[in-house]
Amino acid sequence: MAPYSGERGHELLQAQAHVWNHLYHYVNSMSLKCAVELGIPDIIHNHGRPMTLSELVAALKINSSKTPYMSRLMRLLVHLGFFDVEKINGNNGVEEGYVITPPSSLLRKEATVSLSAFVLEELDSSLLTNWNFLSSWFQGNETTAFEKANGLSFLEVAAEIPEINCLFNDSMASDAQFIISIVVKEYGQVFDGLRSLVDVGGGTGAVARAIADAFPHVKCTVFDQPHVIAHVPKSTKIDVVGGNMFESIPPADALLLKSVLHGWSDNDCVKILKRCKEVIPTKEDGGKVILLETVVNGDTDDYKSMETKLCFDVMMMLASTGKEREEHVWQKIFIDAGFSDYKILPVLGLRSIIEVYP
Ligand code: SAH
Repeated sequence: MAPYSGERGHELLQAQAHVWNHLYHYVNSMSLKCAVELGIPDIIHNHGRPMTLSELVAALKINSSKTPYMSRLMRLLVHLGFFDVEKINGNNGVEEGYVITPPSSLLRKEATVSLSAFVLEELDSSLLTNWNFLSSWFQGNETTAFEKANGLSFLEVAAEIPEINCLFNDSMASDAQFIISIVVKEYGQVFDGLRSLVDVGGGTGAVARAIADAFPHVKCTVFDQPHVIAHVPKSTKIDVVGGNMFESIPPADALLLKSVLHGWSDNDCVKILKRCKEVIPTKEDGGKVILLETVVNGDTDDYKSMETKLCFDVMMMLASTGKEREEHVWQKIFIDAGFSDYKILPVLGLRSIIEVYP
C-alpha cells in the first residue's frame, strides 16, 4: 500500500467538497421556494426597515418554537444573496435585521413585476418528480423524461389539467412581464416602423399588452393555443387569436416569439419559422421575426451564466424536445427556414433579442 500522503488526502477532500457542493444545490432551490411560498420577500419589504428574526416570525404567524429553524433558513438565504443583514438599534440594544436584496425584490408576490410565479412553477412537484425518470428515460424510448413519468407530453398535460395550464401560464406571464418591461423601456427601437405585431405562442398576452401600452400605434395580437388564450384577461388594447402555429399564423409586420422555439426540436423550429415567413412582409418592407431567446456562447458567457444556461438546457430536455442553442445552431435553423439574415442583440442577461429577416 502506498504510504499516506497528506497531499493526496487534501485532493480527496477537495473532490468530496465538490461532490457535496453540487449534491446539495437542490437545497438552495427548495429553500428559495419555501421563502417565496411563505411570502418572506413581501413581508421583509413591507416592514420598511431591517426586520429582526422575532419580528419576521411574528409577521409569518408561525409558532415561535420555529424561530431557530427560521434563523437557519434565513442564514442560508443570506449566504446565497437573497437577503442581507443590517445592524439596528432595537429594544435589546444593537440587533440584526434582515433586508431584501435585488434578487428577492424580484420575488415579491405583490410587486408589479414579479418572478414569484415562475419560481413556484419551475419548482412545482409536478415538474420535480420527472427528474427521477431521467436515467431510465435515457435507457428507454420515450420522447422526454416527462413523458416517461406521465405518459403524456408536458403540453398535453397542460392542455388536459386546468391547474397545470394555469400554473404554467402564470409562470410564463411573470417571466414575460419582467423581460418585456426591459425591452420596451430600453430597446424600443426594435418596434420602430411597425404597424402590427403578433406574439406567437404569446401565452396569456403579457408581452402583447406591454407593447400595446408602450407603442399604441402598433396593433398587437396574442396568438396561442385555444386553452391558453381562454385565460387572456379581457382588454380592448390587443386582439386575441387561438390556433396552431404549425398550421397558420395571423399576418403582421413583425412576429414575436418569446421562449417558444427553445421548446422545440431544430426541425420543428424550421417548420414554425417557415409559417412565420409566409405571413410577414419582405425585409425591404420592414418584415421581421423577433425572438427573445437564449444564445449559448462559450466565448463570452461567464462561468455562472454558462452554468445557468446549461441547467436551463437540461431542464428543457426533461420536458420538451427543445434546447438552448449556440449561434451557429440558430443560424442553420434560420437559413433552413428560408430567412436571409439575422442580428443578435445580447442585451437581456441570459436572453438575447434576435431579429430574423426574410
Ligand atoms: N411566449 C410566452 C409563452 C412561452 S411558453 C412567454 O414567454 O411568456 C410556449 C407557448 O407556446 C405556450 O404558451 C404554448 O401554449 C404555446 N404553444 C405551444 N404549442 C403551440 C401551437 N402549436 N400553436 C400556438 N402556440 C403554441
